[in-house]
Amino acid sequence: MRPIDRGDSPRDEDYGNYRDAFPDLVSRLGFFCSYCERRIVTYLAVEHVQPKTLPQYEHLVGRWDNFLLGCVNCNSTKLNRDVVFDELLLPDRDNTSHAYRYIEDGTVEVSDLLSADQAILAEKTLWLTGLDKPISKIEDENGQFVAIDRVRQRKEVRLLAIMSRNDLEELDSESLKRHVVELALAHGYFSIWMTVFSEDVEMRKRFVSAFPGTATDCFDATALATVSPRPNNGLDGASKV
Ligand SMILES: [Zn+2]
Repeated sequence: MRPIDRGDSPRDEDYGNYRDAFPDLVSRLGFFCSYCERRIVTYLAVEHVQPKTLPQYEHLVGRWDNFLLGCVNCNSTKLNRDVVFDELLLPDRDNTSHAYRYIEDGTVEVSDLLSADQAILAEKTLWLTGLDKPISKIEDENGQFVAIDRVRQRKEVRLLAIMSRNDLEELDSESLKRHVVELALAHGYFSIWMTVFSEDVEMRKRFVSAFPGTATDCFDATALATVSPRPNNGLDGASKV
């Protein structure tokens, strides 16, 4: 899960209508779901980290620090489940790049580099967003239930990333490198590109800087996820991983 930094609020006060934050969020973070990482232009929405429907978080409905971008899939799983910062990991607060591994079969696993306590938090985030499930059912614009197979999507992008890596091994050119970065941005799934290019420092650095809003303080000089907890960015419950 790409760790992100949405930066300071573009406004002095909370948003009167939280939907107005959408273009600001997209400009900072790109058209990517903050949880499943896929690029999605329609059906991407302002996501309230702490659900606006729970009375204890009503006052956060227009708060910049409570916004991420979420796809229908992740939103419909997360719904109004309570989000207690100390009980799970979040991409704006923790080094979520260090917390998960993206496996060849398309599944997402908690990294075995985490401590037992950290692993419990990482598992809870998978459960919260349904990233541990292969199939999610959502209702489309016609009210029909459709199944979206996220495992298959991750496998497809992985294949694309592997083909790109092979192409670069054959022809190491600046224009091809730029093309591969554009391909990654067009498809999303930052963590899969970072995984497939695990032996290629230069390409990893390019991905980190090309995906808008990636938290650079979560990566070392070779663009590998740092092991020590993310530096505290002043948000409640930050720096658990
Ligand atoms: Zn999503």
